[in-house]
Amino acid sequence: KERSISDERILAIRQKHIGSNLSISYHQPLHIVRGYRQYLYTDTGRHYLDAVNNVAHVGHNHPHVVQAGQRQMAILNTNTRYLHENLVRYAERLCAMLPPELSVCYFVCSGSEANELALRLARAHSRQKDIIVVDTAYHGNTTTLIDISPYKFDGPGGTGAPPYVHVVPLPDSYRGLYRGNQPQAGERYARHIAEVIARMQQQEKGPAAFICESIGGCAGQVVLPEGYLQAAYQHVRQAGGVCIADEVQTGFGRAGSHFWAFETQGVVPDIVTMGKPIGNGHPLGAVVTTQEIAATFDNGMEYFNTFGGNPVSCAIGMAVLDVIEQEQLQENARKTGAYLLQGLRELQGRHPLIGDVRGLGLFIGVELVLNRETLEPAAEQAAYIANRMRDHGILISTDGPLHNALKIKPPIVFDEANADLLIAALDKILGEDFVQV
Ligand code: PMP
Repeated sequence: KERSISDERILAIRQKHIGSNLSISYHQPLHIVRGYRQYLYTDTGRHYLDAVNNVAHVGHNHPHVVQAGQRQMAILNTNTRYLHENLVRYAERLCAMLPPELSVCYFVCSGSEANELALRLARAHSRQKDIIVVDTAYHGNTTTLIDISPYKFDGPGGTGAPPYVHVVPLPDSYRGLYRGNQPQAGERYARHIAEVIARMQQQEKGPAAFICESIGGCAGQVVLPEGYLQAAYQHVRQAGGVCIADEVQTGFGRAGSHFWAFETQGVVPDIVTMGKPIGNGHPLGAVVTTQEIAATFDNGMEYFNTFGGNPVSCAIGMAVLDVIEQEQLQENARKTGAYLLQGLRELQGRHPLIGDVRGLGLFIGVELVLNRETLEPAAEQAAYIANRMRDHGILISTDGPLHNALKIKPPIVFDEANADLLIAALDKILGEDFVQV
């Protein structure tokens, strides 16, 4: 093992040469030098169970994915203005995973690029400009995407929503406007979209798009109530808008029961955006839409993306699909996710701090509260727990607008023994003085 530069030195150089508004995870930063499956290894050889990196979807450095990239990189990497079979084979394979209406792909290099392009498609198709977004959502790091991400524009350094952006309530059954399993909650939340549209129309405007994550990630792993997207899409389409499903966090089998999380809502979006897991860490993203929308977008102006869809990225994308299929990882996400959820719910029964346990497959959130009646958020406890889990060799994160949700979204090779370990550590930490309520 080679020890290159010390942690102190890395921190000092970061401070000097790296933009300082980039955070570092944990009070005691981790110096990770290697990954394998759901494990990460530090420079001193300690291993950690990675229960948070949903980018390393099929496992860190999966050999099949690595080899596919290496092999293609040694042969050719160039842009998509030449004929290459990888581009078309990958497009066919990706479309085969989607409802038949969604059959035109644009390959890009990140989730942000995907959403950015999705907005362009939606505006071209609807000939409208306004965007409807769900409260607390995050859709990416570009100028426009910060403008449509309440997670950012309502947070520190944010400057609020521009006039063309309309925020609707987060359909959160735990803390939102309509709580519990009340029937029609989905429709009731969606009615806010109809109201926003009515207000737009009074000003002779209409929605270009409604963009919604299929499970609210930055919101703290909020599972949409039944019927929400169906009703929402209906309102938006009636007003000539386009429905975008942001599957950047939730796609590719993570939800367990379905390959795409939007499928759990029984809808077919007009545009689906993909990122993070699609390349298992390689910078890849995609937008998939209908023939009709693609045709209106083709208005004479070329859409070109220097790196998007290159033969190396496509080889990697296909290898990721191979592994999900060959190792039956969607089924693993379903089974292990259900097992983990059950274990966490059992903890909820014994630890009053756990207000809510929610999720689909291996996309899970645990919301912490100081009081189950008032739902007073336990943000300090959440941060404490994430740091203590790290001490126990398990990596999770915190999120949500109130910073009180523990986020669990491991590579989907995560197994039952890993779940047992996570639950045991969490159980122990929840018994520590600091978190007692
Ligand atoms: N959409 C969602 C839901 C995301 O969580 C993210 C990244 N956290 C993005 C889009 C942007 O993706 P990227 O960071 O790859 O640009």
